[in-house]
Amino acid sequence: LFAGETEFVKGVVAMSGLPAPNRLEVCFAGRSNVGKSSLINALTGRKGLARASNTPGRTQEINFFTAGDAHYLVDLPGYGFANAPLPVVEKWQRLLKQYLSGRQTLRRAFVLIDARHGVKTVDEEILKLLDSAAVTFQAVLTKADKVKEKERATILDQVRGALAKHPAAYPEIVVTSSEKGWGIPTLRAII
Ligand code: GDP
Repeated sequence: LFAGETEFVKGVVAMSGLPAPNRLEVCFAGRSNVGKSSLINALTGRKGLARASNTPGRTQEINFFTAGDAHYLVDLPGYGFANAPLPVVEKWQRLLKQYLSGRQTLRRAFVLIDARHGVKTVDEEILKLLDSAAVTFQAVLTKADKVKEKERATILDQVRGALAKHPAAYPEIVVTSSEKGWGIPTLRAII
């Protein structure tokens, strides 16, 4: 995955809108404000590719980006808005479930976890969905620059403990900071 090879393809609100499954893909999931847009921008080297400021109404779509000629990067809607209306949440859950369990070309999900907060109750739902869809997922700590090393170690332990309960979890956690560029080359290589 190299900088400059990424283009926005489309935002999808229903299964019928998915691009043809003719490229392998990875997806990114995370609580809203976890740093998902910043991470995708850092990975692709394209500032502003993924919208860096999300609002509840605008984020209920699955966004597809090309990565070179053969792959897609897929930005899933951020979850965990405290006051999102129930129908919005239910629609999101339905689409997400359909996408995760029905997408043949999906090879891995990256679940973004804020390095200050660790795995929260709000994250557990998607981890369970990934388990039941048998999509291998990998945890990515974001904003690692915001915590001291000792605190980071504590959070990593907490995340490891949470992942251990999920059969679809890949055990290795990627520690990143989009701001400092930490972990970005590693994550590119994994992708
Ligand atoms: P999203 O809602 O998950 O797409 O989150 P954004 O990418 O919009 O980031 C949310 C906020 O966290 C913004 O104010 C970003 O500037 C900030 N942020 C994102 N990544 C980092 C990081 O690696 N380090 C720091 N210090 N702040 C970050």
